[in-house]
Amino acid sequence: MNRISDFRSDTVTRPTEKMRRSMAEAAVGDDVLGDDPTVQVLEAAAAAVMGKEAALYVPSGTMGNSIAVKAWTRELEEVIVEEKSHIYNMESTQMTFISRVTPRPLRSTRGAMDPDDVRRNIRKASVHTPRTSLICLENTHNSWGGAVVPISNIKAIREVAVEHGVKVHIDGARIFNASRASGVPVREYAALADSIQFCLSKGLSAPIGSVLAADRETIGLARRLRKALGGGMRQVGVIAAPGLIALTEMADRLGEDHARAKRLAEAIAGLPGVFLDPATVETNIILIGFDHPRLTVAQFLAELERRGVLALAVFGGIRFVTHKDVDDADVDRGIAAFREILKD
Ligand SMILES: *Cc1c(COP(=O)(O)O)cnc(C)c1O
Repeated sequence: MNRISDFRSDTVTRPTEKMRRSMAEAAVGDDVLGDDPTVQVLEAAAAAVMGKEAALYVPSGTMGNSIAVKAWTRELEEVIVEEKSHIYNMESTQMTFISRVTPRPLRSTRGAMDPDDVRRNIRKASVHTPRTSLICLENTHNSWGGAVVPISNIKAIREVAVEHGVKVHIDGARIFNASRASGVPVREYAALADSIQFCLSKGLSAPIGSVLAADRETIGLARRLRKALGGGMRQVGVIAAPGLIALTEMADRLGEDHARAKRLAEAIAGLPGVFLDPATVETNIILIGFDHPRLTVAQFLAELERRGVLALAVFGGIRFVTHKDVDDADVDRGIAAFREILKD
């Protein structure tokens, strides 16, 4: 049994055979000079899927979000973020480091901030205070266990933003998971935002890359910002080619990941030490509270690893993520490991 069942993240997905072939055969040019044909096809396809005028291929989701914040803000401004959001917590302080703006974190219910709370926290420039120029949303919400932020909530926050002349950016690293779970097309989420970032490299299984989509003028600025951040790449069609397959062919299978996450959650909920309501598992992420009389989180993860099952320790618990490269047998193995380790 040397096979590893790797539930740490959907970023561990490997490119498919078809992706690998597309890399070998990709038409390439110098993308910084604007003539990589494969990147052009990917950016046009991404813009069309998102219903935006233009799109920009970037090396990572963090860079896509960083460019969006920089494009929509100036110094002496403030950005409303959700308190557990990736942008605020997991991007090495990009907001202050790159854009020199301050984040204003707000509480939420499973990633959905209260629109009235958002309104109360929008500030006007004064001698004391920054102007609020941007609201960042995240869907699905990673640290809320892949929760889908309802379109009605995004719509209400959008109305508040428009009322006050504030821009909206969606960190849609897993927007295709949100769409799959809710039945709302990705373009309907994107239509409520001035810009949206999504990852090709997570559940969609491309090896590298994200896309930022917005209006044409903003993407023009974003292209300059990408270069300034060191993200201008040359014959990058070799990685854009699998990205195009990710975008056009891989979203359909996300429902399988969601079903597997649900099955795993239902099987382990109620085991000693496991705190988990399977109803909170809406997509491909399972956040497990863990408090066991004999085992710490680190000891439990080590026991799982001895059985070939990998998961991640996160704030106050354990995270399992389902994805293309864990199948039903991996889920069975995960369930068996939980039962064996936690049997009384
Ligand atoms: C993964 C992720 C990102 C971007 O991650 P990169 O590793 O920089 O590609 C952004 N937002 C969320 C919610 C994520 O899960």
